[in-house]
Amino acid sequence: MRIVLLGAPGSGKGTQAKLLIEKLGIPHISTGDLLRSAIANETELGLKAKEVMDRGDLVSDEIVLGMLKDRVQEEDANKGFILDGFPRNLTQANMLEELLVELNMTLDYAVLIEVDVEEVVERISKRAEVEGRSDDTEEVVRNRLCVYEEQTAPVAGFYKEQGVLTQILGTGSIEDVQQRILSVLRF
Ligand code: AMP
Repeated sequence: MRIVLLGAPGSGKGTQAKLLIEKLGIPHISTGDLLRSAIANETELGLKAKEVMDRGDLVSDEIVLGMLKDRVQEEDANKGFILDGFPRNLTQANMLEELLVELNMTLDYAVLIEVDVEEVVERISKRAEVEGRSDDTEEVVRNRLCVYEEQTAPVAGFYKEQGVLTQILGTGSIEDVQQRILSVLRF
């Protein structure tokens, strides 16, 4: 099964994806995590990406696609994957579509987790205390939310047109949201 998880920063995509791994037996592929590990390893790509990420802007489509292309071809992704944080704009949505055609794969679900802005800001400020991410400061979060509205939100429409979009209410407990997601997946 191949799933794209969509939702604003702080909507719970990462948390839900980690729980889904156990239920579905497929890996969670987060482009944010791939980028953060490139930064931690001080690769050339990581050095390029860090400044952009610290501002809350999007890293170039080519860099992210390159990383994703390698990752989805690893053996553990043979039976499927849960994409978190990609596609982030319509260009990436088209790139993903081409990549899947090239690899003879199809996308089964795009799951949009919907939460309101106030809840997102509150969740991210809690996460900042726990994880200490350099892009979780209030100013950067605000920019990330603008980037989401302008560039990422239209991706939901792209998948709606393709008939694979499911909208899930992202409020309530982690377990509630997980149940809502599981109830729409056929496996
Ligand atoms: P995330 O962990 O998904 O919230 O991503 C953290 C940051 O990594 C984002 O604010 C972007 O700077 C960068 N990033 C993650 N995924 C992408 C992507 N698909 N395209 C461009 N930039 C990305």
